Amino acid sequence: MVIAIDGPAGAGKSTVARAVAAALGFTYLDSGAMYRCVALAVLRSGGEPAALARSLTIELGERVLLDGEDVSGAIRAPEVSELASTVAALPEVRSAMVAQQQRLLGSGDWVAEGRDIGTVVRPQAELKVFLTASEAERANRRAAELGATQEAVLAAQRERDRRDSTRAASPLRPAAGAVELDTTGLTFDEVVARVLTLATAR
Ligand code: C5P
Repeated sequence: MVIAIDGPAGAGKSTVARAVAAALGFTYLDSGAMYRCVALAVLRSGGEPAALARSLTIELGERVLLDGEDVSGAIRAPEVSELASTVAALPEVRSAMVAQQQRLLGSGDWVAEGRDIGTVVRPQAELKVFLTASEAERANRRAAELGATQEAVLAAQRERDRRDSTRAASPLRPAAGAVELDTTGLTFDEVVARVLTLATAR
């Protein structure tokens, strides 16, 4: 079974997806970490994103490994977030990442999280959730995580939302058949419980 969780930055996808995966004994797939790895490699080498996307070895698990190096912390830097949404707009980068994601999701039970899991990577997922929250709440959550102010996060978040939703290649939008879940004002436990209820109903 595959549970797809898509939505904008800061909607709580990764914490919710991790918790749902742990509760069900499924494996968690953080597709954003893959685009972040490509961005980090571009920042470090100045190389061409599509060529890097095809040649890098990205391993996901407890830690994120890029060509064998643990980059779990490095890929969360603000400049990597920024560049990730730019390289993720390139069709050749997307096709390289999507092929790897489809291979992984081809067997076993997964909670896969990103922007295009339900629309492109796995439209046949048994459960598709589109997780949202108000812009202010998303910025507050991200600011608390990063130890920054809401204002500092808001501008970058808006730009990333704009790029993710307006790009020609796989723009962020709810998949056909996705359940839209607005988490504004809900606690983390409430959100996880709702997704688990939806999953057990499938
Ligand atoms: O989810 P996260 O913020 O880690 O993703 C980083 C960037 O990667 C996003 O801003 C988005 O541009 C891109 N992304 C994507 N498709 C996915 C996952 C992430 O385009 N499935």
